[in-house]
Amino acid sequence: MSTAHILGFPRIGAERELKFALERYWRDGMTDAGAAALRETGCQLRASHWKTQREAGLTYVTVGDFAWYDHVLTTLAHVGGLPQRFGFDAAQLTLAQYCAMARGNAAQPAMEMTKWFDTNYHYLVPEYSPQTQFGAGVEWLFEEVEEAHAAGHRAKVALVGPLTLLWLGKAREGLSDTLSLLERLLPAYQRLLTRLREQGIEWVQIDEPIFALDLPDAWRAAAPAAYAALAPHAPKLLFTTYFADVSEHAAWLKALPVAGLHLDLVRAPAQLDVFIDAYPADKVLSCGVVDGRNVWRNDLDATLARLTAARERLGERLWLGSSCSLLHTPVDLGHEKKLDAELRAWLAFAVQKVREIALLRDALTQGRGAVAAEFDDARAASAARRTSSRIHNPLVQRALAELTEAQARRESVYAQRAQAQRERFALPLLPTTTIGSFPQTAEIRAARAAYKQGSLSHLDYLEAMRQHIRLAIDKQLAYGLDVLVHGEAERNDMVEYFGELLWGYAITENGWVQSYGSRCVKPPLIYGDVYLPEPMTVGWATYAQSLTDKPVKGMLTGPVTMLQWSFVRDDQPRSQTALQIALALRQETQALEAAHIGMIQIDEPALREGLPLKARERAEYLAWAVHAFRVASSGVKDETQIHTHMCYSEFGDILASIAALDADVISIETTRSNMELLDAFETFDYPNEIGPGVYDIHSPRVPTSDEMAALIGLALERIAPQRLWVNPDCGLKTRDWQQVDPALLAMVEAAKKARAALALKPKKLQQPAGALV
Ligand code: GLN
Ligand code: ZN
Repeated sequence: MSTAHILGFPRIGAERELKFALERYWRDGMTDAGAAALRETGCQLRASHWKTQREAGLTYVTVGDFAWYDHVLTTLAHVGGLPQRFGFDAAQLTLAQYCAMARGNAAQPAMEMTKWFDTNYHYLVPEYSPQTQFGAGVEWLFEEVEEAHAAGHRAKVALVGPLTLLWLGKAREGLSDTLSLLERLLPAYQRLLTRLREQGIEWVQIDEPIFALDLPDAWRAAAPAAYAALAPHAPKLLFTTYFADVSEHAAWLKALPVAGLHLDLVRAPAQLDVFIDAYPADKVLSCGVVDGRNVWRNDLDATLARLTAARERLGERLWLGSSCSLLHTPVDLGHEKKLDAELRAWLAFAVQKVREIALLRDALTQGRGAVAAEFDDARAASAARRTSSRIHNPLVQRALAELTEAQARRESVYAQRAQAQRERFALPLLPTTTIGSFPQTAEIRAARAAYKQGSLSHLDYLEAMRQHIRLAIDKQLAYGLDVLVHGEAERNDMVEYFGELLWGYAITENGWVQSYGSRCVKPPLIYGDVYLPEPMTVGWATYAQSLTDKPVKGMLTGPVTMLQWSFVRDDQPRSQTALQIALALRQETQALEAAHIGMIQIDEPALREGLPLKARERAEYLAWAVHAFRVASSGVKDETQIHTHMCYSEFGDILASIAALDADVISIETTRSNMELLDAFETFDYPNEIGPGVYDIHSPRVPTSDEMAALIGLALERIAPQRLWVNPDCGLKTRDWQQVDPALLAMVEAAKKARAALALKPKKLQQPAGALV
């Protein structure tokens, strides 16, 4: 019997039980009683996830994939090495302390958070210093193993590996590099692994996904000795990689003193051939064939066919698994009541994927006949999906076929457009604006929810939203902003809102995926050609514009962000889907222009996170991503001003691509970096207009006008005043009006101060050396 397993199960719960339990615990002040209740929820979730795996027929249930907030922080809790600034002892760590590191407390800000590889999951970034010590940690993992054993399960433990744990951390306080801590860290892993072996654990899946990155040589070189030090103390180790190809490492990985390797054959199918060739006789090879990153049902026949040769070579040493942890997929399709039957039949969430893996194993070891009915079913679903008329839309196909290079170019170059736009809008120097959304109050949410449930009529809903637009416009006029927005009250989410209106998209009721801690996202899914049946935003934008003579920016989500934050169809390249979305957005921008909306913002906050993990694949990605944006934005006249917005802090490396978007104005997030981000603009002359954020909207704090004027001053050292805008870092939907009112008043005040200071300067000093006008 070959082994079937998963790399991890979503921990949040099919009904987001963990989210609600955590938030209750926090709300009630993290008492001991609260901790007991939270622990109880954790216990129940694990029990139910293990039961699912066992009943589906997996060989092992996976233990150790659970975390109260994040698995990287939890691994630190196991091996020590917590950020020292909190002063906590890992061996004595309480749940309240664990949460304090994740969320901050009165004395210390939270640990930093960043994206887990190229997923939308955020982990907490370890902080290492020369003083970092590893050692004893919490007992949680051992308790979970006991729980699983007590329930009669065969347990395999999943653990973040030592090299990955170090790589993902930040070196602070003069620590030269985090790899230098490896020697100190290994004894802690030895202790942990020894305990697991004593508990009767046969296999530990040790996750080292960093080997899918372009890694400095020293990290690769450190692996053999590190694993030689761990293996003698450990249960059998399954060295686990995912998210990309690791075939460049095949030779040394095959020689590594571990009992097996895991490969992601969904992201990188070709690596199977490289590994299977002369695969060592003493190792198992775990093939990740069921996609942990997407929601489509597996084509079981095709997968089986691919595995048959591997089975002949490896026999029982062939393991079957998910490509990566199922953390990145929604929990259970069984909870979707509204999806139509046809679409449903094409999908598999975590619970269904677990079953697919067991089925593949059964077919492989006992022959397809043993599971014929389920294979027949899957085959029928695959065929139906391939041939469904819902997938292909001739209107989209025709538009794609007719797309010309010229359509990805504005009529004139920026300098000429800028001239036309200056004449049209006659804005003051340093124009002030916002990024789009205003506070999403309880009232707004209630109106949207009531409309969705049918208890608010279409007309009443329209009037409720218009009332919020009026409020937003009145407020912006009172602040004295130059370029206004309608406020996005109608949007539950910047991607889902458009997903609901575009054809080819479907929305789930419960397809939640953990983003960080208790926060979940519900990505819409793209199953067919994306098509715009009718304008999506023109009504809101024109209503807002009817209330004022100042320009109101239309507000759209860009093609790459629409793609990145959705589950994407797997039957055509992502670039193709992005282009379809771009065509839909192009029509929307043209509709806005025709309705006399003079400025249109196309947000691309996810442009950077779409970058492939491997440097060698980045140029191709950036080329099609930029092309998609340009197709979306280039269908308008010179005097229509295109804005874009991005909010992340590292983009020095993609500046050329950002410039290639050729948006007339870009707004970015810069406040926390104190405009240091703009340093990149000293070496790269960004050609168009730019609004570096001066108001940190992630904090409830209201900045003063002096602070913001100082930031504008810093920006003016790098950017010519004729090209500088003044705006917050991002949208204001998570703030409340008590913060937004004074902050935006102060921001307008700051712009006035900066304008006054500029007016005092002799003309020739108004420009930084070398800056374009
Ligand atoms: N226009 C969006 C807003 O203001 C942009 C959000 C984002 O960048 N994530 O909310
Ligand atoms: Zn933003």
